[in-house]
Amino acid sequence: MTKEKNNTTIEDLIVRLTYLDSDLEKEKIRKAYLFAKKKHLGQYRKSGEEYIIHPLNVGIILTSIYADSETIEAALLHDVLEDTDCTKEEMEEEFGSEVTKLVLGVTKLSKIHFSTENEYLIDYYKKIIVGISEDVRAIIVKLADRLHNMRTLWALPVEKQHKIAKESLEILAPIAHHLGIHKIKSELEDLSLRYLKPDVFYDIVEKLNNTKLERDKTVMQMMNEVTNLLTNHDIVHEIKGRSKSIYSIYNKLNKGKKFSDIYDLLALRIIVNTEQECYLALGIIHSKFRPLPRRFKDYIAMPKPNMYQSLHTTVFGLDGYLFEIQIRTHDMDEVAENGIASHWAYKENKDAKANMQSTTEQKLQFFKSIMDLKNDKMSSEDFVHSVKDEVLNNNIYVFTPKGDIFELPKGATPIDFAYKVHTKVGETMVGAIVNNNIVPLNYELKNNDIVKINTNKNSTPSKEWLNIAKATQTKNKIRSYFSKNEKENYIERGKYNLEKELRKRKLSISEFIKDENVKKICENFKLNSLDDIYLSAGNGKISPNTIINVIDKYEEVVAPKIVKAIPKNLDTDIIVSGIDKVKVNLANCCNPIYGDDIIGYITKGNGISVHRRNCRNLETLENRIVPVDWNKDIVPDKRYLTLILIYSNIKDNKMAEIVQKTSMLNINIDSIKAIPKTDEMIYELGIYVRGLEQLNKLILDLNKLQYIYNIERLMR
Ligand code: MN
Repeated sequence: MTKEKNNTTIEDLIVRLTYLDSDLEKEKIRKAYLFAKKKHLGQYRKSGEEYIIHPLNVGIILTSIYADSETIEAALLHDVLEDTDCTKEEMEEEFGSEVTKLVLGVTKLSKIHFSTENEYLIDYYKKIIVGISEDVRAIIVKLADRLHNMRTLWALPVEKQHKIAKESLEILAPIAHHLGIHKIKSELEDLSLRYLKPDVFYDIVEKLNNTKLERDKTVMQMMNEVTNLLTNHDIVHEIKGRSKSIYSIYNKLNKGKKFSDIYDLLALRIIVNTEQECYLALGIIHSKFRPLPRRFKDYIAMPKPNMYQSLHTTVFGLDGYLFEIQIRTHDMDEVAENGIASHWAYKENKDAKANMQSTTEQKLQFFKSIMDLKNDKMSSEDFVHSVKDEVLNNNIYVFTPKGDIFELPKGATPIDFAYKVHTKVGETMVGAIVNNNIVPLNYELKNNDIVKINTNKNSTPSKEWLNIAKATQTKNKIRSYFSKNEKENYIERGKYNLEKELRKRKLSISEFIKDENVKKICENFKLNSLDDIYLSAGNGKISPNTIINVIDKYEEVVAPKIVKAIPKNLDTDIIVSGIDKVKVNLANCCNPIYGDDIIGYITKGNGISVHRRNCRNLETLENRIVPVDWNKDIVPDKRYLTLILIYSNIKDNKMAEIVQKTSMLNINIDSIKAIPKTDEMIYELGIYVRGLEQLNKLILDLNKLQYIYNIERLMR
């Protein structure tokens, strides 16, 4: 690798600033340069150059994406606070608080303390998240900083080269991608590859060089053809051949493609004035050159999550060569190249910073995903994994039926999609339709799938989903649903126990829970609210008596007669003979459903538990058995959960057909599991049915499938 000599001066930067209107801004930039130069005097880079060459080049990189003057000042000053005697106060005095804040934002990102790789990443990611949420410009300066460091990476020892290149590829290039700054992303990737896999890199470079002449000739001919075609139809346009990045070729080779297949794919870009002309140009090109089926993508109607807009098509061009063609307007091209940074180019807007920040927050899905992570409580491993593998890398794009795009980690299932759309959608989902086919919940979504989620407002998540969901965030949401539910149960139980105790002591409940008493109890046990008191009484941390004693000193009185608490009647669908109002639960070992032959079992303190008469858990408990029956006077509108085992004598996964039969009867699925055996398959299906009648109808339907030879209800 040759050392690139760098004779860059401040004038090289100033001449690039023609896009800034005011000379004042240019003078401020010059002042920042002189200040930094003075502060860094006597410091040299590993390459042997004066230190100032580095910040100067970072500034120049930023002019290529039309950065505003504050950002360029910050770029010139970005290492001054960390590496020189300059203080924050001094910088504020000279350059104002905005520029100083930006410099601090960049400095923070290079000051990362760690003892392990994991801790390092946690610290790094957290700082990036903070940076993006406070002023995205600090992150853009960091990207430019890293790009220049990558360009001069040859000066460092091999071990450091690897570490920095790896970090650039795994963290910074993906951030550039999500912010839509294609120029920086692409160069970071190519440079990283050059240091991480030099053999592969130079092999591709050589192959490209060997085929360059022929490719250039073919592209030139095709460009002439297309440009004449468009001109004949009065479409004013720009056209250019474009070369694929080395990294993107490497990626395709990695996926098993042959080099000859890739260089066959030649690429053109057409830029027109209006959106309408994009479609017009597309039609004209397709009328002359046959398009390759299924390769057309309309990212104008459906922009990518990083705001990218363009039409993509692949056509059979001259001599049978395949041409990949992109068609877009000038504005779209600006966004495609510079992403979020394109806001700098829109002159009409005075406050580029505010505008950029609000676009980041509102339009970039990346921002939402990364903010969710910040708010989620998760372990440090989960956090690093989520940022690195689920937000930054390996994403797929799927669509809602309306055409909204969602970004999901590779391997995501319809459950991840539903939760990504909205937590409520996730929590009430009962099924998914992908590209018009019903799919099981563990279906692995693919790029460009169109996903429709069916919901039912009475449906709730299943714990089984924790094994099906892919994204850590989805799992966290499912877990939090269950822990919230458990918490609610404890609160309810605590309230019940406490009130029971109050009644026992003949104390007024409403009197007891008035504000001053609650306050006193909270202070006593270091709790925060009435719910906390109930929670402590419900989960057994503090007994109801201990709580009541804070207000009402317990006197040893034996209640003259035992007042039996009357619990609420929760299940009017079951009659317990001889007893009017009693708490009734359906046992979850045998899951009785409406119409089953049932029997009651008196539990200790939790009412009557209803089992199916043939439930094996009942055998030992005969002295506590009580007759129960379904209330035939009402038709319950509730659904009963039941589990069935379906035995199939073929190994192929027929989940989809089973799900379809179930959906046809309007039965909601709680869970479905395929259990492979040597030469058959067993499906465990959890469903919500109206009762025995509906279940029998389903069993009848399922039995019509030839490969199903047995169906039974599961009992635990
Ligand atoms: Mn730097």
